[in-house]
Amino acid sequence: MEFKKSHKLYNKGLVNLVGAVNSPVRAFASVGGNPLFIEKAKGSKIKDVDGNSFIDLVLSYGPMILGHRHPKVQKAITKALKNGYSFGASTANEIKLAKIVCDAFPGMDKVRFVNSGTEAVLSGIRLARAYTGKDKIIKFAGCYHGHQDSLLVAAGSGLATLSLPGSKGVPEGAVKNTLIANYNDLDSVKAHFEKHDDIAGVILEPVAGNMGVVIPQDDFLKELKAFLESKGALLIVDEVMTGFRSKFGGAQELLGVEADITCLGKVIGGGFPVGAYGARNEIMENVAPLGGMYQAGTLSGNPIAMAAGISTLTELKKQNPYEFFDKVAAIIERSLLTSAQKYGVELTVNRFGSMINPFFTSKHVTNFEEAQSSDTKKFAVFFWEMIKNGVFLPPSQFEAWFLSSALSSKDIEKIKKAIDNSMEAVSK
Ligand code: PLP
Repeated sequence: MEFKKSHKLYNKGLVNLVGAVNSPVRAFASVGGNPLFIEKAKGSKIKDVDGNSFIDLVLSYGPMILGHRHPKVQKAITKALKNGYSFGASTANEIKLAKIVCDAFPGMDKVRFVNSGTEAVLSGIRLARAYTGKDKIIKFAGCYHGHQDSLLVAAGSGLATLSLPGSKGVPEGAVKNTLIANYNDLDSVKAHFEKHDDIAGVILEPVAGNMGVVIPQDDFLKELKAFLESKGALLIVDEVMTGFRSKFGGAQELLGVEADITCLGKVIGGGFPVGAYGARNEIMENVAPLGGMYQAGTLSGNPIAMAAGISTLTELKKQNPYEFFDKVAAIIERSLLTSAQKYGVELTVNRFGSMINPFFTSKHVTNFEEAQSSDTKKFAVFFWEMIKNGVFLPPSQFEAWFLSSALSSKDIEKIKKAIDNSMEAVSK
């Protein structure tokens, strides 16, 4: 397999782009080598500029749940393009997408569309503060909520990939109201409430996908919600990754928990820049123009993005691929564990719906510390062998693999074979 054109573009990209990428995880920093440059994608496959074709388990880090260029989505976007790209005024499609979203999440009476997951979360946090009149927010180590200043501490995703504890350029004042707790550890949350009486709420990924996939144990979420209710604090659930992916109603539907504030992104825009935050009426009425919490956006509710979101979610609801995802994830899990055993590689696999992650460790992984026990050098070997065997994975131990409904049985067989070859390479 050759990557000559990608290498050439990488070197060219270094001149005017930072690291030749526009998001750090794309830089292949933790797996070595140069990033691949993509030419196009269709269905379950993605093709690089050298003509190499891969089964895509990155899916743009989650959004492309139907696979690439689904005909219904393509048609909806093409139609929307004919009417104009942006108006700075309301359209009927914003109301249509809002209804789809609010129907899917019972805790949301109203929603506000923004342009990214980062914006959704920073607005959700502002709203929690506006509603409660309190300043402090608890986040969990290893959870990533986008790149807003106040949450760039002990964050997963690219920071975990690059082994960064936080980000330079974030002033102390910006994080002074951020408290860190341990995932799956309610006592670590309670300890903060014993010390502080100005906690507005707790934000978490209901299933963490940015320290690798880490699943909430037992009734962690339900107990957390009950505890927060007893303290008058809000549960802010960041479903940017899990929304419409774990289930149509997100991880909340699967886990039987209702958030006070829900943040969405990724799938909701079907590959276009859309984020959203929402809550019940009494909370959302604090947002301008109804209330005093200001939040705005020139391109928010963009007509092309709304068309992509509506068509993606409509098709997703029709396909209802969640059982299929579970089956495929179980097959991949079995394949990973069988090959690991065959070649004597220590491996733990976590999966939740269509998110799956192998950790190169013998430890049970339930939090960030345990995730970090993974041998990232082994992951790097595994990653490149998977590439050579035609499977595109996120270039980081700490990013979830995603499934799309476009995967065929042939693709699944190819993934299994790639896993076996790659695990053998890791054992050498
Ligand atoms: N929240 C979670 C759980 C995410 O996984 C991400 C991105 O990966 C974000 C927020 C930020 O979203 P965006 O990259 O669209 O700003």
